[in-house]
Amino acid sequence: RVFNFNPGPATLPLAILEKAQKEMLNYNGTGMSVMEISHRSKDFEAIILGAEALLKELMAIPDNYRVLFIGMGATGQFDMIPMNYIVDGKIGNYVITGSFANKAYKEAVKVGPTHIAASTKDLNFTRVANLDEIQMSENPAYLHITSNNTIFGTQWKEFPDTGDVPLIADMSSDILSRKIDVSKFALIYAGAQKNLGPAGAAVVIIRDDMIEKSNQNLPTMLKYDTYAKNNSLYNTPASFTIYMIKLMLEWVKEQGGLDVIEKRNEEKAKIVYDAVDASNGFYKGHAEVGSRSLMNVTFRLPNEDLEKEFVAEAAKVGLAGLKGHREVGGIRASIYNAMPVEGCRKLAEFMKEFQAKKA
Ligand code: PLP
Repeated sequence: RVFNFNPGPATLPLAILEKAQKEMLNYNGTGMSVMEISHRSKDFEAIILGAEALLKELMAIPDNYRVLFIGMGATGQFDMIPMNYIVDGKIGNYVITGSFANKAYKEAVKVGPTHIAASTKDLNFTRVANLDEIQMSENPAYLHITSNNTIFGTQWKEFPDTGDVPLIADMSSDILSRKIDVSKFALIYAGAQKNLGPAGAAVVIIRDDMIEKSNQNLPTMLKYDTYAKNNSLYNTPASFTIYMIKLMLEWVKEQGGLDVIEKRNEEKAKIVYDAVDASNGFYKGHAEVGSRSLMNVTFRLPNEDLEKEFVAEAAKVGLAGLKGHREVGGIRASIYNAMPVEGCRKLAEFMKEFQAKKA
């Protein structure tokens, strides 16, 4: 296998792929694969409730929150959030720190009144917003932020204190990568395909009062309480994805939980950023140092030809998926939980060697 630096779908730990392979033909003595068993069976109930319990344990999620599994990816949440909470003249507040934040905002604009509480667009999204730049509207429905900007490689280190106003975060690309105080948030969501497992579901961590407040005039599949009342089993869920999420959560627990994972992620990111910083400007980081993401490291080379060569040469030595997003260009190394330290070391060595050859 190669070291896979793709931004999502992303690398998964070998141990969980092997476990899934082992159980593929006969899950828990059923004589069927987990893809073939009923989502109403005891076996599947144990998987979905087990995944919820494990995530609660790992993230220290308080008792007054639920974990829901919803289809349509994180992008579906861009729609569900305003539809559920921009009601009764309330205003959806958004902090724009990258492309996905902007996509979330644009969906809300279609639903009802919105307000941009802060934006770093003028800085080409080289950092997240400073807390003192955030200015909410009157009568806010919520404040929406994107905790890690996957494309630009920036990450919030501190979160705004919004008082009674619900704080909502898209944590698609850094959920479960570090310890956070869940009680600061009314709702957290993430597409599964980076730190949680394969694509196919969004994980939504939602406070009880937000479930109660969800807009009752919406069609069934767009209301949060449909998922909460039915343990995310109102209809057939993405059962295989949820099974893989449970394996991934078990793996995180086996690693020692978020204490260990967070330290490892800091170590991994430092290895790659050190390689950028030691290059005398050959590699130029996109993010301001204070906003540097521990999950997506973005940098440029002196010209696009060299960038193309870098990506191609890296792939030849087993470093896959390093091409940056077209909005930033250059290189993006996505180093989610499943990327081993060894992969970051190999990348840093490759960067040094490539520079020595080309500079
Ligand atoms: N939000 C963020 C921060 C992302 O990185 C992504 C995908 O890369 C999305 C949302 C969209 O997720 P999905 O493809 O699950 O809809």
